[in-house]
Amino acid sequence: MTSLGERLDRRIRSEGPLSLSQFMALALHDPEAGYYARRQPIGREGDYVTAPEMSQVFGELIGLWCAELWTRMGRPDPVMLAELGPGRGVMAEDLLRAAAAVPDFRRALRLHLVEASPVLRAEQERRLGRAEPRCVASLDELPPGPLLVVANEFLDALPIRQLRRGREGWSERLVGLDADGRRVFVGGPASRAAGLLVPERLRRTAEPGSVVEICPAALALAALLGERFAREPGAALFIDYGYGEARAGATLRAFRRHRAVSALDEPGEADLSAAVDFAAFAEAARAAGAAVSGPVTQRQFLLALGVEMRLAALAKGASPEVRARLEAGVARLIDPGDMGVLFQAIAVSSPSLAPAAGFEGGGAGR
Ligand code: SAH
Repeated sequence: MTSLGERLDRRIRSEGPLSLSQFMALALHDPEAGYYARRQPIGREGDYVTAPEMSQVFGELIGLWCAELWTRMGRPDPVMLAELGPGRGVMAEDLLRAAAAVPDFRRALRLHLVEASPVLRAEQERRLGRAEPRCVASLDELPPGPLLVVANEFLDALPIRQLRRGREGWSERLVGLDADGRRVFVGGPASRAAGLLVPERLRRTAEPGSVVEICPAALALAALLGERFAREPGAALFIDYGYGEARAGATLRAFRRHRAVSALDEPGEADLSAAVDFAAFAEAARAAGAAVSGPVTQRQFLLALGVEMRLAALAKGASPEVRARLEAGVARLIDPGDMGVLFQAIAVSSPSLAPAAGFEGGGAGR
């Protein structure tokens, strides 16, 4: 069988270099050999571990966040709750359990899962089947109506493009082949069009030689939610690793079995992701008419939602081992030297719902 790498190389030979977003889309989602098409990547046996997998408290607090917004929306019944990229379904499971503490909310809630991977869909079906989720491939398949959206580590998986400032101006960094047929980054032609893709502030100030990343799919999503929440009640919460102010620097990375590997060498075998530009995301949502809360660090957000109280309540009466596990999980989530600040939360909502719960203190995104 021809490997995905060989197919990509053949395509580059016949059509020329691919944009990084084309390369990423195929490496992650090729129906036969894409990374997400074939495997279950999350958890200790997979390639990386995510926040919901570290502590049940993460999903529970997000469930309470949803309940709080639902109340502020005027308690609509029914209300759609959509999770983007639910992975193994662990966060949704924890979220639903916490939502049950607000029975009217739990009853009104209709769970929707937006998932590209057939493997993960099957796992979500197993874990969440009792909640009768509706699975869709994209957010624009959802009917109109009051909507809550949650997503952890979804935006970082969307394909990006890279632009590089050279002596003759901006050009796109593409994936091509070198003289020996090895996959490498190559520079496209310098063009005004490439420069126009760069956020304005960076277009003028970026140092020669620097690389700027853009994520058209994330901006399109922000605009879609922004337009929707300008028209009808709703709020969306995104948690991801990223930065709060436009900046230059390549952040694309590849992970395989908890180790960093080359992004180009083994398409389909490694997870590819890039840091989220929250400033650009916020700007696209605002331009479409929605309000934006944050970004604030994951640490600030979880503390504001009462992570310590929740932990104390769970630890009470638990065995010493369970208590130690609960404490270790939460400590990782809010670690000021690691996840607690590398990850940030941002909310896009109808203007009347801002600032969203957990963001009331404002926040400089640090
Ligand atoms: N939220 C989960 C999983 C994060 S991994 C957690 O925190 O554990 C990224 C998830 O997004 C996976 O479920 C992946 O299959 C899904 N995904 C990636 N790109 C997608 C796309 N374009 N459309 C829908 N789902 C996508």
